Amino acid sequence: MDREDRRRFFVIGSAILEVVTPVFRHKLENNYTNHGVGCLRDYLNSQPVVHTLFHLRHRYMTCCKDNGNCRSNSTLPINYCQWELLYTENPGSGQHYCYCKHTAKSVQLEDLDITLAGLILLNCCTLGPAEQQAIKMLRQYKNDYLSHNTKCGITKPEYDALWPHLTNFVLQLDPSRQDELVRIKNRPMDESLCTKYFIDLLDVHKQLDQIAITVQELDSTFQTLSTTVHGLNTSLQGIGWNIHGSFQGVNTTLQGIQTSINTEKVEKTIDTGDCTLARLCGSGDSIFYTDESYVLYHYSHSNNQISGVKLSLEVSDMTVLKDGSVYVICENESVQHVSSDGKMYKQVTTKGLASLGSYSGMNYNPVQGKLVITDVDTITVFNEC
Ligand SMILES: [Zn+2]
Ligand SMILES: [Zn+2]
Repeated sequence: MDREDRRRFFVIGSAILEVVTPVFRHKLENNYTNHGVGCLRDYLNSQPVVHTLFHLRHRYMTCCKDNGNCRSNSTLPINYCQWELLYTENPGSGQHYCYCKHTAKSVQLEDLDITLAGLILLNCCTLGPAEQQAIKMLRQYKNDYLSHNTKCGITKPEYDALWPHLTNFVLQLDPSRQDELVRIKNRPMDESLCTKYFIDLLDVHKQLDQIAITVQELDSTFQTLSTTVHGLNTSLQGIGWNIHGSFQGVNTTLQGIQTSINTEKVEKTIDTGDCTLARLCGSGDSIFYTDESYVLYHYSHSNNQISGVKLSLEVSDMTVLKDGSVYVICENESVQHVSSDGKMYKQVTTKGLASLGSYSGMNYNPVQGKLVITDVDTITVFNEC
């Protein structure tokens, strides 16, 4: 885009903001003053207007009054910002939701941009077909050439084709604007004013308003979440859990709660007979447990059967492996590998597991695939291979 493209953008932008927009506002003002309405607010509060505009923002609504005129539009021409600019919802006005719950704000004609003024004109005012066409096309020009024009430039062919039509439509609505249009067409470039118009016409401020509202809503959601997590943390600390101030921590803790809730629900009670339980571990279909004897007991959930295998020495610790078999540390400091059905065993010869101290403990983590051995003052981690 060269300097002339930018100047042409400035001319069209000036025409829209300095001429077309005021023409629309005057047209609207004439329309309601001709009907004896004193100000824009009173006009917006008049029943047919608020009812019509209500349905341009709200879909699938049937109102409590005048419901023969209720409409459901396939598109909603009034956006949230525009609706918020015009109306406020009355507090405590009954269960139903309809136009009757809304009152116009003290909005001025100068608050209406070309889009909103045009929208009210086209939907709420009595206009001739030529006027309607002129308003529709001028609004369209703003959208087509300015609102999404991030390059801030209009080429010569585009401009030459557009200008005669733009002036025609303006003069159709207000013939007294001829001189003003000529002045704008010939005006010298004003860089700072052009930048201001460029920003105004891009509707950036409206989009920023919408983003600001969303961020506010998001913020309050996070505050609620934060309060919830804080409350959860406090109550979990009460029962011995702790959150590490991260979502991962919360997640892990929630998984922990899930497990603890499940285990609190009694599914069945297993009678172990004379066995005085000393240690147990479980996985899949099995529970392995021991008493003070040399026997490692195996309970099967699927058939409720208890079997036992007699080891050479008493069990000091044990852990379930991924396939449901168990590693058992016996008092003679050897590690025995017991099959998942609890029937067979053999000594583990892996270096570091063949001989352990008398106070050793062990734990296998199936997610990490790691076996951890404690031996007095050291912890040894074995990777599965
Ligand atoms: Zn109502
Ligand atoms: Zn309605």
